[in-house]
Amino acid sequence: MSIFKKLFGGLLGGGGRPADDAIWLYVRCAACGETIRVRVSPLNDLSPEFEGERDYPTGYIVRKEIVGQNCFRRIHVEMTFDARRQPLSQDITGGTFITREEYESSRDAASA
Ligand SMILES: [Zn+2]
Repeated sequence: MSIFKKLFGGLLGGGGRPADDAIWLYVRCAACGETIRVRVSPLNDLSPEFEGERDYPTGYIVRKEIVGQNCFRRIHVEMTFDARRQPLSQDITGGTFITREEYESSRDAASA
């Protein structure tokens, strides 16, 4: 029982209060140019991927469908992570990845 509890405590970051180590993605819609910020939680959004007969994940994958406020085009984002939840690759269709600086300056320009 104590081992079981320990395992789950580790998974959830202890007491069900996961540390906020979210990944923020910044994307620009290819259709209208809107910049959008998306939160990816390594604790909640990652789907484990299994390979062969192994009973532990060999990696993780995240698929996000993003719809901005300016138009109804969908932006698909797919990210892969290794077994230690470190980002391996990211792929996007319907938009482009931008930096946080680009996102913030676009927002500043819009509200000015
Ligand atoms: Zn758009």
